[in-house]
Amino acid sequence: MPTMTYDPDNIFAKILRGEIPATKVYEDDETLAFMDIMPRADGHLLVIPKTPCRNLLDASPDQLATVMQAVQKLSHAVMKAFGAEGVTIQQFNEAAGGQEVFHLHFHVLPRREGDRLRPPGQMGDMEVIAGHAEQIRAALA
Ligand code: AMP
Repeated sequence: MPTMTYDPDNIFAKILRGEIPATKVYEDDETLAFMDIMPRADGHLLVIPKTPCRNLLDASPDQLATVMQAVQKLSHAVMKAFGAEGVTIQQFNEAAGGQEVFHLHFHVLPRREGDRLRPPGQMGDMEVIAGHAEQIRAALA
C-alpha cells in the first residue's frame, strides 16, 4: 500500500507558494484556478483548493464545498469565453486512478458538440494559452 500523505513539494503546492509560475485566471481566499500547460481542449484549466489535500479521498467537506463552487463558476466562465455548448469535469485519485499531481484538482474543459479531447501529455503553446486565459478573465469580469 503506497503512503497517502500530502507531499508539500508537489508541483501545485509550489505554484501556490509562488515558487514556479502559472497562468492564473481566478483566485479567492480558498481556491485558485490556472491554465493546464498540456491542454486537452482550448480553455482547459485546473481548479485547486489553497489548503493541502492529495485528492478527493482525503479532502474535507469544506475543501470540497469551496472548490466545487469555484469549479461551477469557472465552468460558466469557460462556456461564455469559448462559446461552448457543454463542459467536462475530470478528477483523478491516486496513481491507479490516473492522478499524476498529488494536490486535489479538478480539470474544467469547455466542449462543443462533436469535439474530441486532444490526447494527454502534449505541451501547449504558452502564448496561445495566455490568450485563452485572457478570454476567461474577461468572461469572469
Ligand atoms: P492529473 O493528476 O492526472 O489530473 O494530471 C495533472 C495535470 O496537471 C495534467 O493535465 C498536466 O498537464 C497538468 N500540469 C502539470 N504540471 C503543470 C503546471 N506546472 N502547470 C499547469 N498544469 C500542469
